Amino acid sequence: MAIGNTSHKVACELNVCGGCTLQCDDVLFLVENRVVKESANVCERGLQWVQDSLQFEVSCQVDCREANVDVAIEAMAKLLGSAQRPAIAGLNQLGLLDQQLAVRLAKQLRAAIDTGLDSKLSTHLMALQNCGRVTATFGEIRDRSDLILFWFGEPLKTHPRIVERLCRSEAKVVFVGDQKVDCSAIGAAARYVELQTADVARFLATCRLKLSGSNPMDAERQVFSPSSAPEKQASFTQLMQEIIAAEHLSVICDMRSGVQLPGSKQVVADVISLYELIRLKNNTARASLLPLRHDFNGLSAENVLAAESGFATAVDFSTGFARSHWQDYSVETLLSQGEVDVCLWITNEADKLSVWQHAAPQTRWIVWNTGPINSTENVNISISVQALGIDRSGDIARNDDVLLPIDSVVDSNRCSPATLLEQLLARFCPSKREECEL
Ligand code: SF4
Repeated sequence: MAIGNTSHKVACELNVCGGCTLQCDDVLFLVENRVVKESANVCERGLQWVQDSLQFEVSCQVDCREANVDVAIEAMAKLLGSAQRPAIAGLNQLGLLDQQLAVRLAKQLRAAIDTGLDSKLSTHLMALQNCGRVTATFGEIRDRSDLILFWFGEPLKTHPRIVERLCRSEAKVVFVGDQKVDCSAIGAAARYVELQTADVARFLATCRLKLSGSNPMDAERQVFSPSSAPEKQASFTQLMQEIIAAEHLSVICDMRSGVQLPGSKQVVADVISLYELIRLKNNTARASLLPLRHDFNGLSAENVLAAESGFATAVDFSTGFARSHWQDYSVETLLSQGEVDVCLWITNEADKLSVWQHAAPQTRWIVWNTGPINSTENVNISISVQALGIDRSGDIARNDDVLLPIDSVVDSNRCSPATLLEQLLARFCPSKREECEL
């Protein structure tokens, strides 16, 4: 197998944008010589994503020396085969079929496997397992909501077309959080309500008390302290009344909100309280919660892990069967505890994360990089692989769990992740190859 220069193609059909987890499916990219010449329906963030992703290199190194793909596969097989405690991370960078292959490889290797290398987002998983979640598609949120709450985060920056995708002009739109949102461009029906994280617990508790019909005076006392400014009290009261009166409530909650304090019982309790509020609201009306994600195809990765192992989060196959316990088995945790001796990491940001510093020095690294990699100092084997939506087609799960086919916008002769995974699977179970294939 050879690697070399990249050819190009021009994409002229509607495609899906991977710039954020809205995955807008009405976009158009016209790409020539790895430069976007024209585009339609794409926001600035989406354009930046595609343009940055097009700046890839075609490279393959083993022990800091240029190698061809066959040599790299042999070296990977040797390293993974010799590992006592292997791990695979970065499923969120792959398409659905490649994710399935990666889980099968993890089973063969008795490896730990994880969607990414950021386990701080597991508060929502804890809440989901604690009290379940009522969900809705983008279509239902847009067509039926009379009240849409954006709960913390900066949705207009992280998911720029979110109002256009999720909000009808008839719906009341409220941004709740501790960072001021400029609603002037959205319309008269949108407003911002300031809520500091310290007040979240009492605000949610009051809403729940009112919804469950408790004495309103008790409820008032929960959230309103005498020191609160009158205008703040008025905005809380108005918001609470709107939540209680809504016939169809949709809450879009940033998954990163509250993660500044990983492991904090209060943060987890606040997220669980929000989930409980949605559940309670469903006794008398329709309400749903959409956790706004930031991890590209992470939702599909969770679905694949759930289908293949029964657990929708980091899974450890080291004992021959699947084990999972939130952060305990996350690859990030295992790395920080020095338990992983060989880590296969699929990433588009090898140079941005501080993962190298947290891992034990003896950990050996295989990096499949979908973007440029500037330093290979800590890396035993590195290979540039095709990126989903750039030079690889596949399936991507939109933030509301709708599966969309995403097409490539350029041709390249970077290695496909599927080719590498199939080759590795063939080496680890040659006599049972059919069992390892899809
Ligand atoms: S909102 Fe997100 S998915 Fe849609 S065009 Fe912008 S970056 Fe792409």
